[in-house]
Amino acid sequence: MEKKTCAFKAEIRQMLDLVINSLYSKKEIFLRELISNASDAIDRAQYLALTDKTLVADNPEWKIDIIADAEEKTLTVVDNGIGMNAEELENNLGVIARSGTKNFVQKLSEDKAPNLPELIGQFGVGFYAAFMVADEVTVITRRRGEAQQGCKWTSNGDGNYTLEDAARDQPGTTIVLKLREGMDEFLDKWRIEMLVKQYSDFIAYPIRFGEKGDPPAADAKPMNTMKALWKRPKSEIKPEEYNEFYKHISRDFNDPFKTIHLSVEGAIEFKALLFLPKELSYDLLMPNHKYGLNLYVRNVFIGSDFEMLLPDYLRFTRGVVDSSDLPLNVSREMLQDDAIIRKIKSNITGKILSTLAEMMKDSRVDYETFFTSFGRILKEGLHTDWDNSDKLKNLLLFATASSDGAKQVSLKEYIDAMPETQQDIYYLIAEDMETAKQSPHLEALRKRGYDVLLMTDPIDQWIIDRLDQFDGKKLVAIDKGKLEFGSDAEREAEKKQLEAATADYKPLIDYIQGELDDDVKEVRLSPRLTDSACCLVADENAMSASMERMLRAMKQDIPKQKRLLELNPSHPLIKRMKEMLDTNQDDAKLHDYIDLLYGQALLSEGSALKDPRRFTQLVADLMAKA
Ligand code: ADP
Repeated sequence: MEKKTCAFKAEIRQMLDLVINSLYSKKEIFLRELISNASDAIDRAQYLALTDKTLVADNPEWKIDIIADAEEKTLTVVDNGIGMNAEELENNLGVIARSGTKNFVQKLSEDKAPNLPELIGQFGVGFYAAFMVADEVTVITRRRGEAQQGCKWTSNGDGNYTLEDAARDQPGTTIVLKLREGMDEFLDKWRIEMLVKQYSDFIAYPIRFGEKGDPPAADAKPMNTMKALWKRPKSEIKPEEYNEFYKHISRDFNDPFKTIHLSVEGAIEFKALLFLPKELSYDLLMPNHKYGLNLYVRNVFIGSDFEMLLPDYLRFTRGVVDSSDLPLNVSREMLQDDAIIRKIKSNITGKILSTLAEMMKDSRVDYETFFTSFGRILKEGLHTDWDNSDKLKNLLLFATASSDGAKQVSLKEYIDAMPETQQDIYYLIAEDMETAKQSPHLEALRKRGYDVLLMTDPIDQWIIDRLDQFDGKKLVAIDKGKLEFGSDAEREAEKKQLEAATADYKPLIDYIQGELDDDVKEVRLSPRLTDSACCLVADENAMSASMERMLRAMKQDIPKQKRLLELNPSHPLIKRMKEMLDTNQDDAKLHDYIDLLYGQALLSEGSALKDPRRFTQLVADLMAKA
């Protein structure tokens, strides 16, 4: 290959600019990133070697060497892992930006005064972190199992990199950092040893140190203990060790939110180390997002992202599973339907759900933070995991009308706080919290001191069928069907009262019905309003307004859903309209009033007006006259 100069892809270039110019104080993390990459490369080589012996003809002792050269001011990280061929080198370190990069750059362009250290922390920069400490980085690498030729990548991070052939006697990767001025601390053996212990102790391969540009001496002791964390007794492990391990496997720069260390013995035996992250990463919401746990069989790394180890609604969980019950030469396809894997999955699922339940009980504030990020993913389980649906229902939190959307309650807490006369659980699904809080449907319930669950997650509409009942109590939508409240006697009395008023208002009801025949199915008096003049409700079995909006947003061709217009007979406006009709006044004006009334009903539930121009015109006329 002729030596060639290439430009970094735009996103990578932007990110590099940031990394280089950042004043991020923890520049040391570059080392953990390079060691982590080296360890991944050896994992992959080791796994491929299970099936293809030719890949490891030289039968190497897997290792990671760190070599300092004080004279040249270089720090070099060498591994004998899988290596890269020319194409992979170009793609991995110049073309393909890791999934977070785009978001990272986008966030920066949106944010006027970005908090750089925090952003760098949030997205991680992997290999490119090397440019925080080096003004030139050279990668010399040779792919295991391929041509004898190696290749070389060099860049000073200014927008371009060069590629050319290079000699390398053994497969693996060498990364040479020409340290920037003031970065001499990273040439110091003790400093490096401290960093390895702090960030990379659990790396499963020996990390040794060599000075004066020479490889580590044959008798050099590894700086890391190399102990698989999940195999060590819990009591011996420090929180920092769990945290660093989490960062290594998840590429998250934050500490985990919760760590679960599991050792299962009996009919089935495995060890697992599971982590719940603090924040939702962007990619979790992408449709083709890969998820799952890393799988080890008797200490050998089999691969990452084994999705069959986790139900999809717990896909935010990261971690490792180590089983001695599986054969070493397993493939993903084999595992898909494996009885042992199914048992491990169900065991892990139960453990995560019970941990969440404990968190909800013991550290409520933390749980609410967790639920705010991951609740919408967790809720999917109501559809997919019927076996655990009771546990899942108990983990849900909802905003309440009584707290004006500020407080979150579980279904159990809602029931516990119900007044004695209340029989059902009431809820309202709305586009957003503002619309929900202002909904006229809440009025009668507020008057009675009944709380209402306010649901505004897009997924709520979808899970509500699955909720159906909780603890023997029905979930009732307050914007649907005929609402009845209180004790049987109260319901009866209310019904009578409504019937009497209906007889009184019959002419007005019929008149409005005639005017709005194209838009509403029925006009009737409302049991749910106290302050507002009117509202729209869905038929008992019909689609609710939120469902209709959701389907339309998905471009589904659904027939127009006619709803019911409910009037509040004690509202001055309705009284006035009755009077106008009774005294045969001004038909045109009554007609305008009806249009305004219907417009209000649409607006208050967050739906669009049929004819916004006419509506504003009518309002303006009315104001002019007032
Ligand atoms: P990440 O490691 O998060 O994918 P990086 O920017 O650190 O992102 O690295 C990009 C890619 O370059 C890696 O995914 C890997 O394929 C390749 N790579 C980096 N370091 C090595 C290495 N030491 N050996 C082999 N491949 C490597």
